[in-house]
Amino acid sequence: MDFKSYIRVIEDFPKPGISFKDITTLLKDGDAYRASIQAIEDLVKDLEIDVIAGPEARGFVVGAPLAVQMGKGFVPIRKSGKLPGKTVEQGYDLEYGSDKLAVHDDAIQPGQKVLIADDLLATGGTICTTVKLIEQLGGVVVGAVFMIELEELNGRDKLPGLRVQSLMTY
Ligand code: 5GP
Repeated sequence: MDFKSYIRVIEDFPKPGISFKDITTLLKDGDAYRASIQAIEDLVKDLEIDVIAGPEARGFVVGAPLAVQMGKGFVPIRKSGKLPGKTVEQGYDLEYGSDKLAVHDDAIQPGQKVLIADDLLATGGTICTTVKLIEQLGGVVVGAVFMIELEELNGRDKLPGLRVQSLMTY
């Protein structure tokens, strides 16, 4: 399937100079959404994993169906202040702005093998922070998988030694 044909590119969102890759046009098509999750599973199915973690909010849209498809659990990585239980937190910078990410401190057990999933890899800041959170809990990050990778932003350079895969590249 030509997944890229389902992605809508919106220039100058959320600010001038950013060429935003809108995945909602893929998500609203049931066949394309399902096929994209299956194709992402094909990329990572040789990996031994215990659980999948995804950052708010579009990481849920990729990570949760992937977890169900693979018969694994899903751990939500959320913005600070959203999770009800005790959390650990890490600050991070985005392509546009900065924030803090958090995870429940009992969400991942030491030694568990974790696959990270998100919609898009840009500068790598979000995933780098997600890796730090998982490692803070003693989890072992075995890979990161994305629907889209913006190659010119070199996000994977921030993730040395990590297996990074993406369904589409721009
Ligand atoms: P990074 O931290 O790698 O610079 O940015 C990636 C994060 O920002 C992802 O969680 C993603 O949801 C969001 N993001 C940045 N640019 C885009 C974009 O063009 N399209 C979409 N869908 N998300 C983006």
